[in-house]
Amino acid sequence: MPVQRRSILGLDLLQLEEFLIGLKQPKYRARQIFSWIYQKQVRDFSLMTDLSGELRKILQENFTCFDLLAEKESKSEDGTEKFLLKLYDANFVEAVSIPAVERTTGCISSQVGCKFACKFCASGALGFKRDLSVGEMLSEALFLKSHCAKRELTHIVFMGTGEPLDNYDNVLKAVRMINAPYGMNIGARRITISTCGIPPAIRKLAQEGLQIELSISLHAADDKKRSSLMPINKKYPLADLFSACKEYIEKTNRQITFEYILIKGLNSDLQSALNLSKILNTLKLAKVNLIPANPVDPALARKGWMEPPNKLEILMFKDKLIKSGVNVTLRRPRGADIEAACGQLRLRHAQKEE
Ligand code: SAH
Repeated sequence: MPVQRRSILGLDLLQLEEFLIGLKQPKYRARQIFSWIYQKQVRDFSLMTDLSGELRKILQENFTCFDLLAEKESKSEDGTEKFLLKLYDANFVEAVSIPAVERTTGCISSQVGCKFACKFCASGALGFKRDLSVGEMLSEALFLKSHCAKRELTHIVFMGTGEPLDNYDNVLKAVRMINAPYGMNIGARRITISTCGIPPAIRKLAQEGLQIELSISLHAADDKKRSSLMPINKKYPLADLFSACKEYIEKTNRQITFEYILIKGLNSDLQSALNLSKILNTLKLAKVNLIPANPVDPALARKGWMEPPNKLEILMFKDKLIKSGVNVTLRRPRGADIEAACGQLRLRHAQKEE
């Protein structure tokens, strides 16, 4: 009877070494195999020419090497490319490559759908289906790496569909392989986990000994407003979230980036800027990234909800933060013409299918 093949991308170095030792193979073969997969981008075991024919055959019989299929891609005028990727069970996720002057960032998804139902985000609109496996997330990263082969893939952000800290173990395993010198070899400081803010998971992450970037989607600096935008805030209000952030900074000595979508008439007035500066100034190492809202749902946009404020309002908000001593960046919207903002492509695809 044929063996059920599993994804070799789900294995860490130790697990592959154990498998090889079981075959009476030297364990250094594990690094050779990973180098074919993660560095040379070879997905066919039969082409791994420094392995014996017999080992190649065993690998072929036991493992798969890539866990998705590219279904659809779209390219923005600014070079941003968005891919809809089909999983083995006919679910879809999206991944985006975002070129900039000295970097190319790959944005990957961590779940099919999302449980957290943030009001402004398309990802939750179709509900939650399932977690992505380690192999599926690594396949996304490898897919982006091979797709932008001419430009080196320098950064990975877990900012696609899903909540990475709600798929904690798989995401951490994927992060370690993206970072490992025998894996994708992308520096930890070039890997970002973005979260809606789950204090127990943030505290756990602080203990991992990783130098990765942590990004928290804040979007409002008072509980009432934040709860109305992000239901997770009812379970973990700002005081809980910020106490976990303090612990994280204390333990890792790393800065946390707070994402703040500027929504017209909702959170972009100067009082909101003041509230934001007050809360951020309670932390030793923090910065805020302002993101002018990207309307995901034309129906909401028609109602005047989820529109970005005008330029002047954005600059006044930014200026208020700077004057209050907050470290601020303003994110240039990327890929808006190809619906590359969170969850849009998958949502649109599903709507078309219905
Ligand atoms: N669940 C994670 C990662 C996915 S969202 C998180 O909450 O961080 C990635 C980022 O895109 C978050 O900062 C999110 O708030 C933001 N985002 C989602 N929808 C958006 C929209 N319509 N316009 C602008 N940013 C959006």
